[in-house]
Amino acid sequence: MNYDFGEIEAKWQRIWREKRTFRAVFEAQRKKYYCLEMFPYPSGSGLHVGHLKNYVPTDAFCRFKSMQGYNVLHPMGWDAFGQPAENEAIRRGRNPREMVPEYAATYRDTLIKAGCSYDWEREINSSLPGYYKWTQWMFLLLHRRGLAYRATAPINWCPACKTGLANEEVKDGRCWRCDTLVEKKPMPQWFFRITAYADRLLADLEKLDWSEGMKEMQRDWIGRSEGAEVDFVVAGGDPLGGDRTGARRDGRQGRTIRVFTTRPDTLFGATFMVLAPEHPLVQLITTAERRSDVDAYVRRAQGESEIDRLNAERTKTGVFIGAFAINPANGQKIPVWIADYVMMGYGTGAIMAVPGQDARDWEFAEKFGLPIIRTVQPPAGFEGKAYLGDGPAIHSDFLDGLRIADAKQRMIAWLESKGLGKRAVNYRLRDWLISRQRYWGAPIPIVHCPNCGEVPVPEAQLPVLLPDVENYQPTGTGESPLAAIPEFVQTTCPACGGAARRETDTMGGYACSSWYFLRFADPGNDAAFASRPALDYWLPVDQYTGGIEHARSHLLYARFWTKVLFDEGLLGFEEPFLNLRNQGSLLALTPGRRPRPQEGGGEGGEKIVDWIVLKHDERERYPADEVVWRWARMSKSKGNVVTPDDMTRRYGADSLRVYEMFVAPFEDDVHWSEEGIQGSHRFIARVWRWLQAALPLYRRGWRDSLTRPGTPEAGYAAAPVNSIEQGVTRGPAERLVRRKLHQTVRKVGEQIETFQFNTAVAAIMELLNEIYAYAPLEKEALAGGVDPAVVSELAETLTLLLAPFAPHLGEEIWQGLGGGDTVYRAPWPSFDPEVAASESVNVMIQVNGKIRDKVVVPLDCDEETVKVEALRSEKVRQHLAGRPIVKVVFVRNKMLSIVCK
Ligand SMILES: [Zn+2]
Ligand SMILES: [Zn+2]
Repeated sequence: MNYDFGEIEAKWQRIWREKRTFRAVFEAQRKKYYCLEMFPYPSGSGLHVGHLKNYVPTDAFCRFKSMQGYNVLHPMGWDAFGQPAENEAIRRGRNPREMVPEYAATYRDTLIKAGCSYDWEREINSSLPGYYKWTQWMFLLLHRRGLAYRATAPINWCPACKTGLANEEVKDGRCWRCDTLVEKKPMPQWFFRITAYADRLLADLEKLDWSEGMKEMQRDWIGRSEGAEVDFVVAGGDPLGGDRTGARRDGRQGRTIRVFTTRPDTLFGATFMVLAPEHPLVQLITTAERRSDVDAYVRRAQGESEIDRLNAERTKTGVFIGAFAINPANGQKIPVWIADYVMMGYGTGAIMAVPGQDARDWEFAEKFGLPIIRTVQPPAGFEGKAYLGDGPAIHSDFLDGLRIADAKQRMIAWLESKGLGKRAVNYRLRDWLISRQRYWGAPIPIVHCPNCGEVPVPEAQLPVLLPDVENYQPTGTGESPLAAIPEFVQTTCPACGGAARRETDTMGGYACSSWYFLRFADPGNDAAFASRPALDYWLPVDQYTGGIEHARSHLLYARFWTKVLFDEGLLGFEEPFLNLRNQGSLLALTPGRRPRPQEGGGEGGEKIVDWIVLKHDERERYPADEVVWRWARMSKSKGNVVTPDDMTRRYGADSLRVYEMFVAPFEDDVHWSEEGIQGSHRFIARVWRWLQAALPLYRRGWRDSLTRPGTPEAGYAAAPVNSIEQGVTRGPAERLVRRKLHQTVRKVGEQIETFQFNTAVAAIMELLNEIYAYAPLEKEALAGGVDPAVVSELAETLTLLLAPFAPHLGEEIWQGLGGGDTVYRAPWPSFDPEVAASESVNVMIQVNGKIRDKVVVPLDCDEETVKVEALRSEKVRQHLAGRPIVKVVFVRNKMLSIVCK
């Protein structure tokens, strides 16, 4: 009778593999459902139970969709190229080419043991040539469409990883992989022109069923703002102007400072300008007497991190460069300063300062004694400094009296009519830096020819194979290790046949993950990234799950590539992920200690440390009162990892799965506890015992012999009848348990659909309690007084309800019930709304022993609810006549008797 989960789970995992149960087969006539988790980078630490917080609920969801009759695609693969894998290989002194498949095998094994329903025949690995051939092909497509370009720009450089990073890979000024402070380094780099798609990436968010928080993160990152570009001519300078950095079309440096402002209405209040220290005009227009101060300031600013420079809390610094510019609104000469809080990478690298309406400018003006002119009238009694609110324009000539919105429009029209500026939109989003000076990535398929310039590698020559090398460590010279391999570098130009050099940068891992979801539709295809019929059938992804940390990177990039492929006519849809869910983390109680003063940090940009994790072997070295326990995300480095393999061995995969789903809502963080999984284990065992006891009673024909319950009155009148052959009306106990069953079917279906797995499991647990109350079957088969047809319905439906959550147990019982091939494709149970409906009963209300009224309440209503209803009755209130109630007697479903003074 005891549930031998070890044997049963292994058995079903073997059968699933042998029968290829989860294989997704293209069937044009069937409704498809594509469900996907963000594919992981397989790390050496393996999966921990925290990872399953995503994989297990998503798996239950897939199984549910299959039972609903969908043709489900649920694939898995490995995000194997890129810094994470390469850094790990370096740390372990391994070759990533050998290491990655080993790690992937460990992941695969763990996921299989957790009972996950992946179609392993579609497994992909982004570091294999059959895959990255198509990553390169997509690079060339972007290049052909003018969306991949090479430019020299100051880029984010991680001195530890020795590579450039995309903006999206810099978190709080630090490298996303190793936490080192990122530097700015000017280098020739490859970029993808994602900014060309900024408006569409923004607008199409409206079409998506994503959390509002997630959409807001993308909106914020794209950062669209409307305003005007305004040109300030440098006094005594060259009025011919130039582009945003002042460079003129004739190649000479112009002397116009262009700014972008969201507040053109405040132009009359612009009393000085501030340039980024790196602005190319600075060297040109600084006067001789200011030169040494300016040079010193520029040098200091270059040594500072971006995060420090953008820190609003910092005291403002800056120097006057001796030059003046003309305010185009009023012809006033205003001084030009430089300050480190203005960055070259944002906007035009120059701002017009309007201290009256901007807090930062006010602070700067106050500190350096610069003039302040209010151009918006603050309300009476306003005592603050800069006024950011709305109000009539003042000191602004033709704008005076207008509110901000009107004043903006009027000023833009005026600037355009005078040729001094124009309406403009600005984005925070930058182009996507894709080059990495690293070995472990897809080589960029470009050849540099002295005669022809940049030449794309012809499609027929793809893939450009990543050479197998001994030494792949990053060089730190600004060149990838590939540059040191002559056989790789030296090639012939595809255009002219002359000697040429291959591009030696590789693509960052985000290139591989920007299209992998397409490959799953047709992973073996060697003639295309996927066949059009397969793409049209399986895509887009119906349900996508993964971490919120990808909002600004992977999720933006993948949307961008999808739109490019759509524009090229290769896809019939513009958005890859219709519905997105973000799982919470699993936190483990982790011992640490307070840092010693010298470990506290805080100086020189160091991270402030207030807690240091203790490794296993360190714990004993510290007295108990120095150890501080905290909840922290599981990770091998913190030594707080619990592995799924260990948990499935001890409690079974089904118990682990139920725990992962029951413990908290999908999106919430969870505190890991082993008692929790023990509770799930007891639940599974209890289900098992009941179903085992119910099996001998099971009749396949139960459906025909169950009729709908009659009215409550009729039900009460009839004695419980056990004969299923006669198909007679059931008694109240049957009606109660069936109502609970049908309500649970309705609830669980709705809740899985909306990813509320925790409440779905809770509903099944409640149902089980009612089932035991109705038919307390344990070892003995039949306790007297239960209806075999009802027991059959309960057993079969309970098995189906549990199958997505506890699939091994589901299969085992389903087989025992003679259910056929696999519960994975058994139909999800339907519910009868009439059976599920709460029945109502008449409850008589007595006052001092006499029936005065009756109330209609739901069946099994509690005393308090009935009492509230009774006191609403006019007749009852009359007889109470305001006298205090001394006693209430309640008979469930029958009577409420009130005794008053
Ligand atoms: Zn790094
Ligand atoms: Zn050539």
